[in-house]
Amino acid sequence: MPKLTFLGAAGTVTGSKYLVEAANKRLLLDCGIFQGTPELSDRNYKPLPVDPKSFHYLVLTHAHLDHTGLLPRLVKDGYSGPIFANPATIDLTTLLLKDSAHLQEEDAERARTKGYSRHANPQPLYTSEEVDPVLRALKPMPRSGGFDISPEFHIDSYDAGHILGSSSLVLTITENGKKTVVVFSGDIGRYNQPILNDPTTPPANADVLLCESTYGDRDHETGDPAELLAAVVNRVAKRGGSIVIPAFAIGRAQTFMYYLRQLEDQQRIPQLPVYVDSPMALSATELYLKYREDHDIEFNREDDDGKGDPLDVHKFHLTRTADESKQINNVKTPCIIISASGMVTGGRVMHHLVQRLPDPRNAVILAGFQAQGTRGRALQEGAKTLRLFGQEVPVNAEIVELGQFSAHAGKSELLRWLTGLPAPPRQTYLVHGEPSAAQSLQSAIRDKFKWNVSVARYLDTIDLSTSS
Ligand SMILES: [Zn+2]
Repeated sequence: MPKLTFLGAAGTVTGSKYLVEAANKRLLLDCGIFQGTPELSDRNYKPLPVDPKSFHYLVLTHAHLDHTGLLPRLVKDGYSGPIFANPATIDLTTLLLKDSAHLQEEDAERARTKGYSRHANPQPLYTSEEVDPVLRALKPMPRSGGFDISPEFHIDSYDAGHILGSSSLVLTITENGKKTVVVFSGDIGRYNQPILNDPTTPPANADVLLCESTYGDRDHETGDPAELLAAVVNRVAKRGGSIVIPAFAIGRAQTFMYYLRQLEDQQRIPQLPVYVDSPMALSATELYLKYREDHDIEFNREDDDGKGDPLDVHKFHLTRTADESKQINNVKTPCIIISASGMVTGGRVMHHLVQRLPDPRNAVILAGFQAQGTRGRALQEGAKTLRLFGQEVPVNAEIVELGQFSAHAGKSELLRWLTGLPAPPRQTYLVHGEPSAAQSLQSAIRDKFKWNVSVARYLDTIDLSTSS
């Protein structure tokens, strides 16, 4: 009997990991880190409940760390099979894992020397060297269409419109001549947004569907993103402040850059220096040029000065080294700093916040989902101080939420995506959502579609053949 175990992203938005077992083979779909409460992040350091040495295959839906960030641990703990992903996901996973290892080394070193960690001897979850074997195991699969992983497992991929390379995956399991179809939504993106394609619902008759529910309880704020962003930039620049945007260098950073560039060209905002601060910082334009099938940006490269590049603001700076990053502290005139991590769980954005949070002239823009227990969530909920590097930093800067810039479908968009399925799945499980979001989406699906729908529970195993 084919079965599936929820090894993560059940009751939480992070740690995506689903173990499929059929015909004496084991396939893991995604291998993300947990982020948020200490109880969740401690799970990253413990061995998986099932020995990774016994896994045969691994497939990725997209590159975000909550879907890939535990790969180095998995390989260190003995996983020796292939890791299948499409070419864009391979490129982005390479960047994200190297960046993450580098930042963890920086963070652990800093915690050790300054002695503020809750651990006696703070260690990175993995080192840069431990990322290398993962990169060697990454094997390309097609961006769209079908792909045989093995005689038991076949994958069909569809563009999920969430980041470059993001996919919804249809897994067809063959066991004893019987086929079972499992649809994994992956993270679902937005409809009618600039840059990325709209999400595509797989035209598959699913026996079982695993659907994300990050924003299962709400829609994003309405309002013109350009206008809202212009208002923040002008307000902050006028009072001589700066803006910090917690985000990774590739993905949401480009959405901001796209709007900033337009606003600059329309002279609706001043041309401020924009710093993208990451050890792996690179010109994202190259990646967007390489993976044109994922988006609809028109690049006009005839201008050598970059004028034809809609992702390039006029005063753009990449900062790679830790020293360059620290030098941004000396910038006292208005600027915009984009730096990871998106939920302020670590990374260089932490030291930018130490610098910028106490000054009421500054602003922090939160655009991504902020999970329970993260510093990003604390800021969102109006915390008066934030614990950074062992000190309580006063939050005097303006905190601005711009959900319009989210890369995740809102509740109505999730329902729209589900409407695209050709037939009701025999059973639907809601994953990748906090309990209130998953429950709210569960009620909405019952009301609208009358489907069998459950909220996934951590470590539960379901029988895919009779699942009910
Ligand atoms: Zn994602």
